[in-house]
Amino acid sequence: MPKLPPIVQTGDLVLRARAEEVPAEKIREKAFRDLVSSMITVMRKAPGVGLAAPQIGVGLRVIVLEDREELIRKISDDERLERKREAFPTRVFVNPILTRIGDEKATFFEGCLSVHGYVALVERHLEVEVTGLDEEGVAQTWRVRGWPARILQHEVDHLDGTLYIDRMRSRSFSTQEHAKALYGGKPIGEVLRIVP
Ligand code: ZN
Repeated sequence: MPKLPPIVQTGDLVLRARAEEVPAEKIREKAFRDLVSSMITVMRKAPGVGLAAPQIGVGLRVIVLEDREELIRKISDDERLERKREAFPTRVFVNPILTRIGDEKATFFEGCLSVHGYVALVERHLEVEVTGLDEEGVAQTWRVRGWPARILQHEVDHLDGTLYIDRMRSRSFSTQEHAKALYGGKPIGEVLRIVP
């Protein structure tokens, strides 16, 4: 196993640039397969539910995402329902195009592996549709609601040089520890009333 790349932290300009399209013919090349496999390994090791290539210093339009039971088990059943968080298998999107569906939105605490140790409230669309290529270069479309839709919006933002801190309710920006101590276990309606 080659050495895993570190996760780039905010301030690095690779996180602020527009990542480049991946030429379709590159997708079957070993270098590209290695990139996808190291992204998945880095995401799992973190652990996280999504990763964009710029987060390991590669300015290409590639994202990986997955949500696993073992991660979801760390939150309460109430939180799981409220966030509409459900496990889904690993998905890879190359050159994704995201469309926000409808007007329904949801606000929750969100973090990023590239803004290590912090979280903030971020409003996102509840439902999105993403089209792009999979890791074999085959066209795919995924229309999804709830937490996976949030992950997709977060990861596709990375490809355009946008971080959640650009979209957050800035007064909610907290260390994970503070957020947990102040708001952990509270329904989101109550959290939204408390946040300064
Ligand atoms: Zn992120």
